[in-house]
Amino acid sequence: MTEIHRNYIAGDWVDATTAAENRSPSNPDDLIGLYARGGAADVDAAVAAAKAAQPAWAGASPQVRSDVLRRAGEMLLARVDEMGRLLAREEGKTLSEAKGEALRAAHLFLFYAGEVLRIPGEKLASLREGVEVEVTREPLGVVGLITPWNFPIAIPAWKTAPALAAGNAVVLKPADQTPGCAHRLAQILEAAGCPMGVFNLVMGRGSEIGAALVGHPDVAAISFTGSERVGRGIARGCAEGMKKVQLEMGGKNPMVVTGAADLELAVATCLNGAFFSTGQRCTASSRLIVTADIHDAFAEKLAAAMSALRVGDPLDPETQIGPVVSEAQLAGNLDYIALARDEGCEVIGGQRLNRKGSFQAPALFLGATNAMRVSREEIFGPCAALIKVADFDEALAVANDTPFGLSSGICTGSLKEATEFRRRSKAGMVMVNLPTAGVDYHVPFGGRGASSLGGREQGRMAMDFYTGVKTAYTFAG
Ligand code: NAD
Repeated sequence: MTEIHRNYIAGDWVDATTAAENRSPSNPDDLIGLYARGGAADVDAAVAAAKAAQPAWAGASPQVRSDVLRRAGEMLLARVDEMGRLLAREEGKTLSEAKGEALRAAHLFLFYAGEVLRIPGEKLASLREGVEVEVTREPLGVVGLITPWNFPIAIPAWKTAPALAAGNAVVLKPADQTPGCAHRLAQILEAAGCPMGVFNLVMGRGSEIGAALVGHPDVAAISFTGSERVGRGIARGCAEGMKKVQLEMGGKNPMVVTGAADLELAVATCLNGAFFSTGQRCTASSRLIVTADIHDAFAEKLAAAMSALRVGDPLDPETQIGPVVSEAQLAGNLDYIALARDEGCEVIGGQRLNRKGSFQAPALFLGATNAMRVSREEIFGPCAALIKVADFDEALAVANDTPFGLSSGICTGSLKEATEFRRRSKAGMVMVNLPTAGVDYHVPFGGRGASSLGGREQGRMAMDFYTGVKTAYTFAG
């Protein structure tokens, strides 16, 4: 019988009444394991354990918290290969991308091990004589973390590490499609000496576990990454319960290419941004906005480079693009590809591949306009709309004409265009001659508009979300 990977609650590995299969999207015969599918009672138990454990965790010397995070980071570092393989099997990104993500998770824990010791405060003179004012940051209490499938170790890491660093206790609910990496993280935190109840893992359906976390009166804050639809519901639930909330959601990220660009660099940049990681990145370049002077030459080169991408088994070192994460996601991508044709685009690629697993060829939508649904809605697959514009000014206007605002980019050799774009882009992250996806962990991550709400993730700024401010006035007499 296949062993069931259990939930981790109050320092114990706990059975749930049911379990779900975790199968590889590249090979449905590859059963990664059975993972517990918890319910609301498990959330209650996890929150109660977190609530009981949090005061001692917050009250311990910062060195204690720093040591746990550092040990977790070092263990992750030593397991990059193992974690990378698990990730590539369960999510489908290539082994090198998966190892890169595992390495990033390790670095995040090491970074926040240092941040524990740097939580800032301020002491100021009061306006009243003899009075001192002190501004400090305190943990929130129990925080609920809800994560998506597309970065199954990095996102749990970039939420868990700052939450714990700030002195909170955590209940993590990973995506149902990719519980394996989060389960491994729970094992690592246990081995790193994280005290009982400080970190809890509850796997299961979003509609049950996620909703129970959002509705729980003892959860002080929710940090969510996922789709805009679910994010809006969580925002409403948190407003109802007066909880602090952080949402990182979708994108329809523009990449502008102008006549001043190095064409080879622009093609390589767009190829990476649009199609790598099977386009399953919130920061993927899904709208390629190209000025008329170079449009045709660019389209020809990009289509050739895209068609030459090797799609296949993520564990094969030759593979550049792995499978789509699931059959449901693939069906959604194929619907959008059909829609692109209906809306009048010429579609290059995009067919389902005739092999076992959820594989599709990357797709380029030629002749797209920014008004089409395929240019406005997030597809979340290896599909990019190519939009022709007259000049830089129109490119900038089209880039900003979206409800989203996560990441944007420009390929240009013109300092004037690059500067103008950086200043006037309405995205939270702007890239010049770099793909819209691919960011550093020590600086803020996040967007605007329908992409993000409630404070930045990663870097030092992440600590703002996981702490509350206290202003204390003292009259010493
Ligand atoms: P999703 O919204 O379907 O699920 C995200 C998480 O929410 C999962 O753990 C899911 O189980 C849970 N969930 C589902 N229904 C819920 C409910 N009613 N209440 C509470 N929780 C619920 O998203 P997904 O398909 O896992 O991930 C893809 C999406 O994530 C894309 O839109 C992508 O752009 C976005 N994403 C954003 C970022 C970012 O930082 N902006 C990063 C990665 C992914």
